Order: sequence, then structure tokens, then C-alpha cells
Amino acid sequence: MYPKVIIDPKKYAYNVDFLTNLCHKNNLSVMAVSKVFCKDPRLLDVLEQSNIDYIADSKLENIMNMKTKKTKVYLRIPAMSEASLVVRYTDISLNSELDVIYKLNEVAAKMKKRHQIILMVDLGDLREGIYYDQFDLSDVEKIYQLSHIDLIGIGTNLTCYGSVIPTIETYRKLKEIKDQIESHFKIKLEIISGGNSSSIPMLLAFELPKFINNLRIGEAMILGRETAYQKRIDHLYEDVIVLKTEILEIKDKPSYPEGVLGFDAFGNKRDYVDKGMIKRAILGIGRQDIDFNDLLPIKGINFMGSSSDHLIIEIEDGQYKIGDILTFKLKYGAILSLMTSPYVEKEYV
Ligand SMILES: *Cc1c(COP(=O)(O)O)cnc(C)c1O
Repeated sequence: MYPKVIIDPKKYAYNVDFLTNLCHKNNLSVMAVSKVFCKDPRLLDVLEQSNIDYIADSKLENIMNMKTKKTKVYLRIPAMSEASLVVRYTDISLNSELDVIYKLNEVAAKMKKRHQIILMVDLGDLREGIYYDQFDLSDVEKIYQLSHIDLIGIGTNLTCYGSVIPTIETYRKLKEIKDQIESHFKIKLEIISGGNSSSIPMLLAFELPKFINNLRIGEAMILGRETAYQKRIDHLYEDVIVLKTEILEIKDKPSYPEGVLGFDAFGNKRDYVDKGMIKRAILGIGRQDIDFNDLLPIKGINFMGSSSDHLIIEIEDGQYKIGDILTFKLKYGAILSLMTSPYVEKEYV
């Protein structure tokens, strides 16, 4: 049944191996990030068979259901309310709140377990982490005093909320914090986790600072694309997952609606461009499963709009017929929503 996604585990394996080798050659360990494909068993199996060092996900539920021998990393900073699940089901979590870290320590002590944490530092992207300017060694001191928590390193996340691209200048702030911790406590931090797929351009250009020894990579593995400049990475597949969807209707109709205009199906006032009669097709997929802005364009088609279950496109004369299947390459958001939707069939090459 359509819509469906076609998943090619071999292409994914190729991308994963390529990036893992690249990282390992540059003395970086790899946390492969699985959150975008919603615990797809075949893709998880690819990670399991690969040389990645850690498997990382931002949904606790995904991690809880993983059968893996890899070290499991919880990417989203833990909620106070899930502390005991985090300690039970994950090996490492990324953290930024002392109170939550105390709670993790408390439940770890009860379970007679140790829990490892990476302390997140915000270098200006303004999502999670202690703002670098307010970093306080006494917080680190407090963490070191906890009986069942191991602070194994520090990390940062870039190009998420604030679109901040990794640069030498930005990383200098992280290096200062690393140096402060290491010289004050006379230790060597095991992990300096420098970022995600947006750090790959620096790595490819041999510009990634040497003190960084770990990256957390999701998008580049699944889409063959880095996220600082949204460029394809040479040699990698960008079609590990594609969407196939069917044409339900093709009609010649006006481009401008007729009658008194109010709101569309989602309560929005819209502007419509009047360009006369056009050839319109309806695809059997809608906003419940996808935002059409996350589909890569196909030559000759123009996205007009969508409702819950219909996507309306303008096509060229004679380009398609009823029942034709269109194949779309995807952006990150599309993979996220399609893989999460129970209405989209999953098929493997
Ligand atoms: C999602 C996520 C990543 C992976 O980001 P990509 O751009 O997909 O490589 C890394 N770190 C954290 C904390 C994340 O939430």
C-alpha cells in the first residue's frame, strides 16, 4: 500500500562505515544517532554490525527497546521524572542540570549501579547546556563528589536551535572549559563530544580541533549530507530512505479558488496565485505524515498545498497518469515524520 518508504540497509551501512572510518582515522569516537528512524529494526541492525562506538537516541523509549551490545547514550537531557529509567536502561546520559544529576545519583545508588554523564556546555546555539560564560568549576566539584555518578566528559551541541556553525572560534570556548576542568582537578576528561553532523565539514577540511575526540552523528549517516552548509558529502548515498506515493487524481482546474475565501483545512488564511488553468494532481499523502517542504523537488512539479491526507501538486501536461507512483528524496524532517507514522508502509530493498 502507498504511501510507503523504501529503506536500503546496505546504503545505510555504507554511509555508516564511511563516516565511522573517517572519524576513527581522525581519533574521534562515534556515537551513531538513531532517533530519526524510530527504532527501525533493520537499520538498528546495521549499527549493531558496524564499528560505531556508541548508539545514541533522544527517545528513552527507543533505547529501552534496543537489544544492543553497544554502549547506549541518552541524548536528550533527562527529565527529573525519568531518572530511574535513564539509569536502568542507558549507560551514558547528556546532562546540564545539577538537580537532575543528584537525582540520577540517588537512583543509581539505590540500584547499586554507576551512571556515566557528559556535561553539556552551550557555546551560543542556545539549546541545552550550561552557558559557557556561566560555567562554574564548583558545579563540577559537586558532581565529582557524587558516589554513583562518573563524569566522563563534556560536550556541546551546535546548529540546532541557533543555527550556529562550528568554527575554531566557537570551539575555543569549549577548549577553555576543558582546560580549566583538567588543570583544576588534575584529571584527563575521557570524552570531549564536539557536536553532530554539522561538524563534518571541519573534519573533512582537517580543521576540527584536536582536543575534540567524539562526534554524535545522525543525519549525515542517513542522508549523506552535512548540516552546517547542507551539502552532500562526496561518496555517500542520499537515498537510504525514499518515499513512494501514488497519484489519485489529475484534472485541469483553475489555480485560484472560486467563491468567498475564509480559512483552509488547518485554520490558516492563505494567499493563492492566479495563473489561470493548470494541470493539478493529488497525491495520497498529507500533513499527518509529511510537511511537503521536506520533500526534495522533482523537475516539472510544483507543490501547491496539502491537507491531512492529500498533497496537491501542479504538473506538466502529459507528465503523469492516474495510478503513477512518484518517488521523492527526503530531507531530515521528512524521514523523521514518515518513519514515525503508522500510516506509511516500510519496505526494504
Ligand atoms: C539529534 C542529536 C544529534 C545528531 O544530530 P545530527 O544533526 O542528526 O547529526 C547529536 N546530538 C544531540 C544532542 C542530538 O539531539
